[in-house]
Amino acid sequence: MSVQQTLSIIKPNAVAKNAIGAICDRFEKAGLRILAARMLHMSREQAAAFYAVHQGKPFFDELVGFMTSGPVLAMALEGEDAIALNREIMGATNPAQAAPGTIRADFADSFTENAVHGSDAPDTAATEIAFFFPEGVCVRTR
Ligand code: UDP
Repeated sequence: MSVQQTLSIIKPNAVAKNAIGAICDRFEKAGLRILAARMLHMSREQAAAFYAVHQGKPFFDELVGFMTSGPVLAMALEGEDAIALNREIMGATNPAQAAPGTIRADFADSFTENAVHGSDAPDTAATEIAFFFPEGVCVRTR
């Protein structure tokens, strides 16, 4: 185990439910620290670039449409084993398979509108954090 950083996005459907506080509470209670946070309404270009790896897949257009349907909260999180820990708290991508008590089990509306994003590996975490926070993130000593 080591201290890692990961990129979290609270997606438009969860923002619309006023669930930002409830979701951040889960991160903080699990020991994840917020190093940066930015509320933004993504453009189609931004969403397509962020999800470029999924370009050409059947769900791509629906995903870009959803991610640009309202504001999101992008955050850089830090903690021991943060990437896997965040994904555990999030639950499975398909909310129908998400374990009870996970964010997606509690706040997702569909496979696409699944409430949160979390980086899946150290290299993507670094790229994704730089995508939203090119100026860098805070260092927290306490
Ligand atoms: N997605 C979808 N249909 C699918 C697969 C994915 O709508 O069949 C959406 C869903 O919002 C998911 C995002 O595309 O969170 C990115 O998919 P990925 O496989 O990277 O899952 P994640 O890393 O978000 O769990």
